[in-house]
Amino acid sequence: MKTLLLNPGPVTLSDRVRQSLLQPDLCHRESEFYDLQDEARARLLSVYELDARDWSAVLMTASGTGAVESMIASLVPRQGKLLVVQNGVYGERITNIAKQYGIAYESVLHDWMQAPDLARIEACLDANGPFSHVAIVHHETTTGRLNDLARIGALCRAHGARLLVDGVSSFGAEAIDFDEANVAAVAATANKCLHGVPGAAFVVARREALEQAASRTYYLDLARLAKLQAQRGTPFTPSVHAYYALVEALREFDEQGGLRARHARYAALAEQVRSGLASRGIASILPAEQSSVVLRSYALPAGIGYETLHDGLKRQGFVIYAGQGDLSKQLFRISTMGEINAADIDRLLGAFDSLMR
Ligand SMILES: *Cc1c(COP(=O)(O)O)cnc(C)c1O
Repeated sequence: MKTLLLNPGPVTLSDRVRQSLLQPDLCHRESEFYDLQDEARARLLSVYELDARDWSAVLMTASGTGAVESMIASLVPRQGKLLVVQNGVYGERITNIAKQYGIAYESVLHDWMQAPDLARIEACLDANGPFSHVAIVHHETTTGRLNDLARIGALCRAHGARLLVDGVSSFGAEAIDFDEANVAAVAATANKCLHGVPGAAFVVARREALEQAASRTYYLDLARLAKLQAQRGTPFTPSVHAYYALVEALREFDEQGGLRARHARYAALAEQVRSGLASRGIASILPAEQSSVVLRSYALPAGIGYETLHDGLKRQGFVIYAGQGDLSKQLFRISTMGEINAADIDRLLGAFDSLMR
């Protein structure tokens, strides 16, 4: 039996992407590798129709956190200051990265169930500024909440700050208006909404932001990576196979209709899960209009602990995801990223029936 991954990455691969891993062995100092790297970089910009004169997609061999770390450590200039909007595990991680690198920062803390409080963010911008950047997680995977980039971006613009976005679990599936939201950069990875494999991550950055970058980290130095990649180079040995898969996944993404089609596909699957679980007495934690289409949180059914639910579903071929921290006793999560279709969700709901009988 094939196991379907309903965790937020790595995802269930399409056969096409899986087969792409079997292409010829390739030295990363050969022109064929640079063709691959160039294609990945160009296709990443085209996901959001970004102009290569203003934007650069910078690849690295890392998981999503590596890309976020590279973005934060590089794009806040030496004399810059960062405001971190924190309403979940991944926002907290950004704070920890800022702390680790000795970057001047303030964090506006929220309960993990709460949406960003614009009044408190604005008060912090006024009281503790000037800030060069505000960092926010677009889709806070902790709960499935989609944070409102446009409104935070408008606050940034009014305060002369640019937005640094953890788009790891939204890039490719949720709309991002890069100009409207005053974005300096978005960090993401191949193995979530783009349907590649783990090992290739990237930051899409404004060229202007790269020019003002600080060099706080050696391996993850974004400006150096950008400069070498623009010259068809690379400083270190990249995960060549993950790049093969990323390029194939991006070709498939385009052929399937790009961002809008992926958003619509996820939205339909998420609604199928939501309504199916609701009719079985399992409630969504957040209202649909505050949630991403990528992942949703659900209240654990009465009398069934997470382990029982997880193990029972796994025996029937589905891997679901626990809540993090204190939320683990309260909720479970289901992501519909990856090669998953409506018939798979019907089978998942059948598996819930068999466990809840
Ligand atoms: C998955 C995820 C990450 C990165 O996790 P890795 O394990 O490093 O790939 C970062 N931010 C968000 C919002 C995520 O969902």
